Amino acid sequence: MTFRGAIQLGKHVACDAFDQTRRLRIVTHAHADHMTGLSQSLKECEKVLATPATKDLIDVMKGPLYLMGGNVETLDYYKTTRFMGDQITFLKADHILGAAQVLVTDAEGQRTAYTGDFRIDETPVVEADTLVIEATYGSPACKRNFGADIRELLVSTVEKGLKQGTVYMFGYHGKLQEVMEILHLAGIKVPFIASERIFHISKICEKHGMRLGRILLSAEDQAKELLDKNGPCVAFCHMNAKGTMGFGSYRVTVSGWEFDKPLRETIDNDHIVALSDHSDFDGLLEYVRRSKPKQIITDNHRTGHAETLAKEIHKQLGIPAMALPKR
Ligand SMILES: [Zn+2]
Repeated sequence: MTFRGAIQLGKHVACDAFDQTRRLRIVTHAHADHMTGLSQSLKECEKVLATPATKDLIDVMKGPLYLMGGNVETLDYYKTTRFMGDQITFLKADHILGAAQVLVTDAEGQRTAYTGDFRIDETPVVEADTLVIEATYGSPACKRNFGADIRELLVSTVEKGLKQGTVYMFGYHGKLQEVMEILHLAGIKVPFIASERIFHISKICEKHGMRLGRILLSAEDQAKELLDKNGPCVAFCHMNAKGTMGFGSYRVTVSGWEFDKPLRETIDNDHIVALSDHSDFDGLLEYVRRSKPKQIITDNHRTGHAETLAKEIHKQLGIPAMALPKR
């Protein structure tokens, strides 16, 4: 793991940040903190590798010309490719559309794996000699033992809001589309309204098999009228717009940073639902327990509790663990 946040696997692979010593760059998923230095990788690496869905999402987020600046290839889940002496396999990660775990076996047969971001629920566990694991909720304080069905809670919260009119839904790319799918599959029939960017990302999700329901562009007349009249619809907004949109209306935010209660109401009519696309502390430990690696590296570059997680893994499971890069 480098100071710029690149996860080095095998002899030639760097994941999720530019690394000048590595000729193959992998993007595990289309979140900004995993696309670090991608422009430089496109210019300088021999190849950039991602799942087909991640590639499509980057095209929408960065513009269709962006990835043409380099040699980009796609690799499907559970398929293997070779690069020099390294053998590379992508495995599904339950996080956002296209998210992958990466397993690299080098010429000597050493297996190193990187989980990327993941939620333990639907993520297959990779067995490896060395495991690099994300550490977002890597502290024992980050446990979500609610015993409640968060998806059901989300649906009932939105249904309650719709009785008052428009529901403004705040979240990050990928998770907003997960919310659309949850609401659609639960039979919520009101239109969903989205900005151009969220709309395009949603269309990519549909192309790759998600079912999201009817989405209107916020610039369309029908959408404008619904929003003006506080009519029944769900307006999907990026978390960054929370300070500027939906004041006075019923607001719902989906966030992983909730550990006390599955649903919390704030004084300004915001309803925070604890829908996370990351494992909590117990989920991270569970992954390590099942992966049975000889050593662990916790990601200390991205937001989280890497040092605490490394200590807890060593204490509870007896596996050598280290947070990298050192701070
Ligand atoms: Zn992510």
